[in-house]
This record gives sequence, structure tokens and C-alpha cells, in this order.
Amino acid sequence: MKKDRKRILVTAGSTIEPIDPVRYISNFSTGLAGYEIAAACAERGHKVCLISGPSSIVPPMKVKVVHVSTAREMMKAIEGLSGKIDCIVMAAAVCDFRPVKEAKRKIKTKRGFSLNLVRNPDIIAGIKPEKEQIRIGFALETGKIENCRKKALRKIRKKGLDLIVLNTKTPSLDPFGAGRKDFALLWKDGREKRLKGITKKAMARILVEEAERMMR
Ligand code: C5P
Repeated sequence: MKKDRKRILVTAGSTIEPIDPVRYISNFSTGLAGYEIAAACAERGHKVCLISGPSSIVPPMKVKVVHVSTAREMMKAIEGLSGKIDCIVMAAAVCDFRPVKEAKRKIKTKRGFSLNLVRNPDIIAGIKPEKEQIRIGFALETGKIENCRKKALRKIRKKGLDLIVLNTKTPSLDPFGAGRKDFALLWKDGREKRLKGITKKAMARILVEEAERMMR
């Protein structure tokens, strides 16, 4: 492998957490950001493994794809990878909670029901950092931009990240799916780069260039 060709793990999409054989809880993630990042990494000659939750997007060429459904499956798929990973881009919108128990049969709707949830494992926080490995996370926050920044910076520390990509959802800003979006790249040393009104493809290219700089 060429010296500047890196091994990059990208996660994408939501996870889905079953309630019963026909229902689940999840979120609005489409997987687009992660797929664009995987494509941008492959275009630049890196060896890419994309671990994806359910998504209708066609996977990019020259990328190894592993499909998973739940957060625990995503964690197992990552744990099952062998060899050194130079960079992890955790773009997946992992469900923070799952139903305590998956009902074996379809729950009857007659009487209504309440759902007990339990926390899913924090995947990236649980991955032991390898030497010289770059760890990039995503944060989607709601509320005032200053509070969103604070929450994202807290996540950098809590999850042992080098960089986090901050997305915000406001009544006028929808971070899901295609179109032009606002992002902020926040580094653990306090550096910040704002990316306003750009597509996820453009954000992905910029992010990969930044990741390459950090891996040098
Ligand atoms: O959901 P949260 O805002 O905490 O996500 C921040 C980062 O942590 C994201 O990169 C996400 O992929 C990752 N994460 C994770 N395991 C979880 C929840 C989030 O690795 N259970």
C-alpha cells in the first residue's frame, strides 16, 4: 500500500432498533453525509470500509460496504475489523436508545402501550484509540448555535475525538438529506472552520482533506 494511502473506516446512516417484528424506532438520517465521505476517501485513493445502517443510497465504487441494522450490530461490525485503521469517521446517527425488549409477536394496538427504552452503547467512546489514529465524530444539535458548539465540544472530550462536524437543526435549517447545509468543523484544540451553504459532497471533500492533513 502506498505510504499516503490510508485505511479509513466510515459509518453512515441511522440505526434502527426493533420494537416488535414489524416496528422500530430510529431517526431521520438518510446516510448521505457518510456515503459522500466514503466516496471522497475512495476518490483520493484511500482504502475505505463503510459500515452502514439502513439507507437507500447506492454505495460508492471501490468501497467495501457492511450493512447493519442496530447500534449493537454496528459496534460488532467495527470490532470485527482487523488490522490498523488510520482514521475513523463516525458519521452514523446511532440511536442513543433501544427498546428494553423486542416483542416476539406484533404488539396489539387495542389497549395502547408504553415503550421502555435503554441506552445503547456509545460506539466511538468504547473504541480504544490506536496509536496515531484520527477520530472524527458528528454532532447534530438543536437550539442556539453557541449552545450547540458547547455541546459538540463536550462530545469531543467525552468520546476522545480529534474533530467533530457540527450540524444544527433549527426551524429554518434542516440538516437531513440533500441540499445546501451549514456545518462547523470543531477541533479538539479549539480551532474552528465554518462551512456555510455547501452540499454534503463539498463538505465531504473538505473533511477528507483535513483528515489527510491530520494523518500526515
Ligand atoms: O448521538 P451523539 O450526538 O452523541 O453522537 C455524537 C457522535 O457519537 C457521532 O459521531 C455518533 O456517530 C457517535 N455515537 C456513537 N454511539 C452512540 C451514539 C453516538 O458512536 N451510541
